[in-house]
Amino acid sequence: MQDKFLNEEHKMFRDAFRQFLEREARPNYDQWEEAGLIDKSFWLKAGEQGFLALDVPEEYGGFGETDFRYKAIIAEEIGYSGMSSIGFPIHSEMAVPYITKYGNAEQKARWLEGAVTGESIIAIGMTEPNTGSDLASVGTTAVRQGDSYIINGQKTFISNGLNASLTIVVCKTNPAAGRKGMSLIVVESDREGFSHGRNLEKIGMHAQDTAELYFSNVEVPVENLLGEEGQGFYYLMGGLVQERLTIAVGAMGGAEVALEWTKAYCKEREAFGRKIGSFQNSRFKLAEMATEIKIGRTFIDDCIMQHVEGTLDASTASMAKWWVTDLQNRVVNQCLQLHGGYGYMTEYPIARAYVDCRAQSIYGGTNEIMKEIIGRNMGF
Ligand SMILES: Cc1cc2nc3c(=O)[nH]c(=O)nc-3n(C[C@H](O)[C@H](O)[C@H](O)COP(=O)(O)OP(=O)(O)OC[C@H]3O[C@@H](n4cnc5c(N)ncnc54)[C@H](O)[C@@H]3O)c2cc1C
Repeated sequence: MQDKFLNEEHKMFRDAFRQFLEREARPNYDQWEEAGLIDKSFWLKAGEQGFLALDVPEEYGGFGETDFRYKAIIAEEIGYSGMSSIGFPIHSEMAVPYITKYGNAEQKARWLEGAVTGESIIAIGMTEPNTGSDLASVGTTAVRQGDSYIINGQKTFISNGLNASLTIVVCKTNPAAGRKGMSLIVVESDREGFSHGRNLEKIGMHAQDTAELYFSNVEVPVENLLGEEGQGFYYLMGGLVQERLTIAVGAMGGAEVALEWTKAYCKEREAFGRKIGSFQNSRFKLAEMATEIKIGRTFIDDCIMQHVEGTLDASTASMAKWWVTDLQNRVVNQCLQLHGGYGYMTEYPIARAYVDCRAQSIYGGTNEIMKEIIGRNMGF
C-alpha cells in the first residue's frame, strides 16, 4: 500500500513480515518447490510471530477483529516476495473467517487456537471435478443421520489441501433446494472415509499443495456444521468479497515486483553496445507498465480502504480481482520479454512469476465470472 495510507505500526508490521519471509522462507523455497509443498514448520513459525489468522478473537490467541490493512500487507508482501505459493491468505482470509463468523463458542474453542498457532491449517473445499464456476451445482452431499452427517463426494484443486488438518467442505444438505440447500461442514483430515488424492501437478506455484479430496461415507457429528443448515451459499457469497480483494492485493504486489526486477535488468544488460533499457521500445514498455501499475495501485488502495471501512461491495471487489490479476499477467509477460532468453530460465524470478501468476485469473472465481457479477449488478 502507499505509505500515505499506513501508520507507523502498519509499517513496522510490514517490515517485520518482509524480514520474516526473507529469513524463514527464501532459503527454503527451492526445496519446497521440489517437494510440492511448504514445510509445516514454516507455518508454526508464522503462527509464533502472529502472522496467521489475525482476526481470531483474543481468547483463542488472535488479535480480534483486525484492520484489513494488516491482512493486505501479508498478501501484498507474499506477492512482492515472488514466493506466491505461500498460502497464508487462503487459510487466514478465505477459510478461517467462516469459523470466526459463523462458528459457535464450542467450535471456536475447538478450532481457532490451532489456526492461529499454525498447528492447524484450514482449507476451503468448494470446487469439484464437475463444477467450479457454478458453485450452486456442487454434488457433494451431507445426509443427516441421527446426530451425524454422512458425507459423500469429491473436491478438487484444493489449496493447502494436503497440509490441512481441517477442511471446510461445501455440501448439499438438501440437494432438491439448489443454493438454499447448501451448507458448510468442517471435516477433520483423520476422519474415516476421508482421503486425499495426489498432489496435483501444476504449471506453476510448485510449492503450493493443491489436492483432490475424497469423501466416502464420512461420518461427522452435527456439531461440525458451521452456522445454519442451508445457509452455506450465502455465507460463501459474503466471504468472496474479501477473498477476491485479497487475490487482487497479492496480484498488485506481484506486478510491482516484476517491474522492479525488470528495471534492474534493463539497467544492467547490454545489446548492440547499449543498455537494453535505452532502446525506445524498452523505455516505452517500461513507461506503459509503470503507468498501468500506478493506476492499479491507486484503485487497489482505494478498495482496501473501502474494505477497512466496511463499504466494499461485491461488484467493486470483482472489478479489482479481474483487472489487477489481468494487469499482473500482462506486466509479467512483458517483463519476461524484456529479460530475453534469461526470462525463460527458472533461475530468474520472472520465469517463476510467469507460471505462478497464470492461476490468478482462474481461482477465486474466474475473471469471466467477475465480469458476469459486475454486469448483473449494472442491471444486465
Ligand atoms: C491453483 C488453484 C488453486 C485453487 N484453490 C482452490 C481452493 O482452495 N478451493 C476451491 O474450492 N477451489 C480452488 N480452485 C478452483 C478454482 O476456484 C476453479 O478452478 C475456478 O472457480 C473455475 O472453475 P473450473 O475450473 O471448474 O472452471 P469452469 O467453471 O469449468 O470454467 C471453464 C471456463 O468457462 C468459463 N465460464 C464458466 N461459466 C461461465 C459463465 N457463466 N460465463 C462466462 N464464462 C464462463 C470460465 O470463466 C472458464 O474460462 C483452485 C484452482 C487453482 C487453479
